[in-house]
Amino acid sequence: MTKFRISLLAALAAVCVFSLPHSSFGQDDGAQDLKVSSQTLDDGEVRTEEQGKTTYEKTLDGDVRVTVVKVGREPAVATIVVPGKDPVEFDAYEPLETAPEEAREYLASVWDRLGETPKKIVNIEIDTSEAPDAAEWARRAQTRVQYWYPRVVEMLDGQEGLERIPDDFKIRLVFKPIDGVAYAAGREITVSSNYIKRNPRDFGLVIHETTHVAQAYGRVRETWAMEGMTDWIRYFVTEPRSRNHWGVDPERSKYTDSYGVTAAFYNWIVENKDPQFIHKIHKAFRWGGSIELLAREEYHQSLQELWDEYVADITKEK
Ligand SMILES: [Zn+2]
Repeated sequence: MTKFRISLLAALAAVCVFSLPHSSFGQDDGAQDLKVSSQTLDDGEVRTEEQGKTTYEKTLDGDVRVTVVKVGREPAVATIVVPGKDPVEFDAYEPLETAPEEAREYLASVWDRLGETPKKIVNIEIDTSEAPDAAEWARRAQTRVQYWYPRVVEMLDGQEGLERIPDDFKIRLVFKPIDGVAYAAGREITVSSNYIKRNPRDFGLVIHETTHVAQAYGRVRETWAMEGMTDWIRYFVTEPRSRNHWGVDPERSKYTDSYGVTAAFYNWIVENKDPQFIHKIHKAFRWGGSIELLAREEYHQSLQELWDEYVADITKEK
């Protein structure tokens, strides 16, 4: 289930698209302070790396200008300017066949180099028969599940996990006018069409449910811990720039609060103790294990002790 409703994905996608003037690439002043490295290739392509952000710029035949920006693990976004036409924004969620024709071949090469081409194509079926109004939202959700599902599987189960996805694997996205937000059962995700009408930007809920499909656990006793994982993937992997929205309250929050609070705690463990933490919880849950035991075995600390350390750390920062 999805509890939290803030999604900045759409807004962020818009924010991260911008085009630097060409002249800025020639200036070295101050560039080193920002850790910018820029490279111009023989064919005129300019590639710039700057603190987790990669930018490709190229002018194609017919003076078509293409700028591609990729921030962290978020999908790349291209701005395509064809003379005499309005600029077009095109993101890596969308199938390449739908990109402006003038830029398609170049985008395919950039997508390849940025790792945007999915390592496994999974079949995502949508059913809006009970909620025809949700059709366009469903289509956009479908592209996101297509993009993220193989990535989440790879994150949790590695290359082997990707190889284990059967060729006839299918996820169904069903839209119904139900109460609540969304839920996943096996390979079927049901989304409330009423909810998305009120929260049209909340595509992150689909990522949350997609992660449940990838988790594919049997019985989990520590459901709060599982939901924390799901929201960690959602907020810290797929929407990394929304990370400060969780407001962990050092006085009142508990590590078992689940969802975003638990996700923020996990992220601190990932960044400070063990980059493999999420993968380890996943393995434990796959085998019917417990996160409390995992913490003791791996870090010789109880989760409460780790949480206390986390709270001390974030309180110190303030
Ligand atoms: Zn959930």
